[in-house]
Amino acid sequence: AGVDRGEFVLHYQPLVRLADGRVRGAEALVRWQHPEQGLLGPGRFIEAAERSGAIVPLGRWVLVEACRQAAEWWRELGPRAPYVSVNVSPVQLAQADWVAEVTEVMELTSLPPWQLQLEITEQAVLEDEAAATAALSALRATGVRLTLDDFGTGYSGLAWLRQLPVHALKIDGSFIDGLRHRHADPVDRSIVEALIRMAHALDLEVTAEWVETSQQMEQLIALGCDLGQGHWLGRASAAAWVADLWRRNIA
Ligand code: C2E
Ligand code: MG
Ligand code: MG
Repeated sequence: AGVDRGEFVLHYQPLVRLADGRVRGAEALVRWQHPEQGLLGPGRFIEAAERSGAIVPLGRWVLVEACRQAAEWWRELGPRAPYVSVNVSPVQLAQADWVAEVTEVMELTSLPPWQLQLEITEQAVLEDEAAATAALSALRATGVRLTLDDFGTGYSGLAWLRQLPVHALKIDGSFIDGLRHRHADPVDRSIVEALIRMAHALDLEVTAEWVETSQQMEQLIALGCDLGQGHWLGRASAAAWVADLWRRNIA
């Protein structure tokens, strides 16, 4: 119902290539402009929406809006425009017509598939592994980018990860937290290093979440991490910054 009343908005957070500081993409993060309670973060309503099934129309709205926005960047900024990265709920992934919906939305918004990335959690895949893997393979074949979100918090065996059709993984922010200070805990640092090495061994691009300090950024660059996301690199906000930042990067 909130979807019909136009109460949802998307904020975008930069995904930055650590080697040169350029913006590669932007993660779409949904907010609810609640008539009484003000602007609510996803932590306040996604779970309830998943339980009630409202996540299906909400998730579709997010996908359409994010693709529409990314198509605008692509038309304005050309082939190297930032891609948009959209979070997918396990409930959406389990819908039989989900792949068709994604394909249809890309057509509707004239968005080239490589300008769209979908963020999936391990948990979502594990719920119905055969169906999820089939859906991800079908999407991968269309050229959409796929990334595993919050990596390291769940159970993923290496063999499992190896056969999963994804392009990238995002190391959960809780691991990056340990690199906050110059004299980082050596165990935390080793874990992050191992995660980055493992991702690269599997030919996956790797993003670090929750980069909040220059110390974290320097260590991640030294460890060869590909992309970073976090308050140090830019907070989530309304879409206007994306084109501005991209133009400043290029200039
Ligand atoms: P996520 O996908 O892991 O998104 C990253 C979250 O970390 C965002 O919270 C972001 O604002 C926050 N964050 C970014 N930089 C930092 C930092 O430096 N430090 C810390 N402590 N946090 C940082 P947000 O926007 O509250 O979103 C929370 C979660 O809600 C997301 O986690 C995602 O799982 C979910 N979510 C957001 N939008 C959608 C959506 O459209 N659909 C679905 N199904 N889930 C969504
Ligand atoms: Mg995410
Ligand atoms: Mg995450």
